[in-house]
Amino acid sequence: MLIVPEREIANLMTREAAFEAVQKVFAAMASGDAYNFPVVREAIGHEDALYGFKGGFDRAGLTLGLKAGGYWPNNLEKHGMINHQSTVFLFDPDTGRATAMVGGNLLTALRTAAASSVSIAHLAREDARVIGMIGAGHQAKFQLRAALEQRSFEKVIGWNLHPEMLPNLEEVASEAGLPFEAVELDGIRDADVIISITSSFDAILTADQVSPGTHIACMGTDTKGKQEVDPALLARATVFTDEVAQSISIGEAQHAIASGLIAENDIAQLGSVINGTHPGRTSAEQITLFDGTGVGLQDLAVAAAVVDLAARNGSAIEVDF
Ligand code: NAD
Repeated sequence: MLIVPEREIANLMTREAAFEAVQKVFAAMASGDAYNFPVVREAIGHEDALYGFKGGFDRAGLTLGLKAGGYWPNNLEKHGMINHQSTVFLFDPDTGRATAMVGGNLLTALRTAAASSVSIAHLAREDARVIGMIGAGHQAKFQLRAALEQRSFEKVIGWNLHPEMLPNLEEVASEAGLPFEAVELDGIRDADVIISITSSFDAILTADQVSPGTHIACMGTDTKGKQEVDPALLARATVFTDEVAQSISIGEAQHAIASGLIAENDIAQLGSVINGTHPGRTSAEQITLFDGTGVGLQDLAVAAAVVDLAARNGSAIEVDF
């Protein structure tokens, strides 16, 4: 069994490798070669923690396993460690033997950023020049860094409920040599691509605050009850997702479905655009919306890529197990 500790991930995994791994597994999901297992998420009644498992099997990539972990709200204060903790376990699909244990914290941010990036690569207008961020927390920096590589962006604009966090976005924009402007929500209309990545439980963005032709990646809503945009925006947009079952239950689409504004079969898998079985964007005026809920197969795909890299450069720890 190979162990790749959390501390090694930053030296091994690149945004490009995460993009490739996530794009490939989204395609495999849409062609029926890969599927996600039902998500388990439990409030364990200890330390206010939420703990669970996301798993799946990719028959094309022969990747089987799960990510175990969750959210411990007191970690930072009590233990000086981040509140989100996760570990990926991979298994040999031929025998069921455990083959790898991989630190999942940084990988989660990289695979989540890769998901919105893949959506931008396939659905945003080629001439997109302004990117708008809603949210400025931990994930937002990863999201922005990855998104900036997908189009020739010239400007970053951003809004956050807590304006004191906006320098996070400014920092990433200036790394890329781009100007950053903090805007009111109405100002997000200037964006050609929008990423929302907040922990909001209420709609932030209204349907009329999004211009025709925009691509929006809604990345924050990954749990029942969370919400970032007005359900009317989903009715106005062509909606794509990683996994339809998650989109309608724990993703942004849960609200538009519940209010009857869209139906399940209005939502397409992003993988079908990658595979060429869905046309994706068909006009410059169309609004495309990616509901990124976060699937176990994304975690397995990036973990498998990291294990390959670690095995090649000798940084994996081998244990007899
Ligand atoms: P964080 O705590 O670092 O940042 C939270 C962000 O949400 C900040 O911008 C904060 O200002 C904003 N926010 C908090 N409460 C808000 C409210 N009531 N209304 C509007 N904005 C609010 O968190 P993070 O690690 O950046 O995660 C952000 C979100 O992304 C979380 O909801 C997390 O569960 C989700 N997430 C999704 C995936 C996925 O695959 N889709 C993966 C990882 C994280």
